[in-house]
Amino acid sequence: MTKLITGKTKLLGVIGYPVEHSLSPVMHNAAIAHLGLDYVYLPFPIAPENLEIAIAGFAAIDVVGFNVTIPHKQAIVPLLSEITPIAQAIGAVNTVSRQNNQWVGTNTDIEGFIAPLQTTYNQDWSQKVAVILGNGGAARAVVAGCHQLGFAKIYVLGRNEQKLQAFCDSWNNSSIDENLQVGTWHELAKLIPQTDLLVNTTPIGMYPKVDESPLSAAEIAQLPQGAIAYDLIYIPKPTQFLQLAEKQGAIAINGLEMLVQQGAAALKIWLQQEIPVEVMRQALQNHLGLKNS
Ligand code: NAP
Repeated sequence: MTKLITGKTKLLGVIGYPVEHSLSPVMHNAAIAHLGLDYVYLPFPIAPENLEIAIAGFAAIDVVGFNVTIPHKQAIVPLLSEITPIAQAIGAVNTVSRQNNQWVGTNTDIEGFIAPLQTTYNQDWSQKVAVILGNGGAARAVVAGCHQLGFAKIYVLGRNEQKLQAFCDSWNNSSIDENLQVGTWHELAKLIPQTDLLVNTTPIGMYPKVDESPLSAAEIAQLPQGAIAYDLIYIPKPTQFLQLAEKQGAIAINGLEMLVQQGAAALKIWLQQEIPVEVMRQALQNHLGLKNS
């Protein structure tokens, strides 16, 4: 059924460039329809050189809030009146809301990432070791999320020593620095037997290279009993990495849940009410042609 746009319809959306492939409109509009609210969530392709004028325009037309995706996650920061400590810690904003006529930026990726670890697989993480593969933008939210859960040790493994050092240095003035260590992929073999949570934040295994995995079956076989393999990739579902991990008896978490939960957390900020997370999950699964799981 087509949504009825009225004279009172309120605007939400996502800014990016490009933004055509964003899955956010699908899940947000499904939740809005389910709640029977007079809102619409639109994709806004905004070239980097138009960011400032677009945000001023959003204020002029009373946009309630918007998500921020590549390439604006850092560039948006100077255009906001306030940034939450969580967004400051990871140095990126993915959600902006209008509060008292000012733009406030936060980041819901951390909440999205930790959601399944806090619910379905909740446990005492204080003696646990997390190993994170990759040191890009998403790895920052994962590091902050693991810190929030209280992991004893957080290892980040990357392929470029300079970028790894810069990643490490960027946490220097935060409490995260105390239990964070970075290293190259060469350290993986040594770390696997003590890894409780192994997170893939690299694009290895993403469509169309669906046969690739960041770890071989032999490497994954070294994971201890009860370990969790978490892939931020959501297509394919499951990835080769998660298939191998499950075969070895590990718990597998796919990136779709993070996507849904970061979206639900953003929608909650804008609407200030309980969000039908299952409706958002179903909308995405249907849109992507995925089976329920
Ligand atoms: P990014 O900033 O480009 O970071 C990617 C990281 O992976 C970098 O550290 C990069 O290393 C490393 N990498 C790339 N190719 C590699 C290879 N062949 N071997 C080893 N390392 C490799 O990207 P991102 O924004 O962090 O996103 C990463 C992944 O997470 C993507 O698949 C994205 O779809 C997914 N993601 C999912 C969600 C969700 O909600 N589920 C949210 C955000 C991101 P270099 O720095 O050396 O290039």
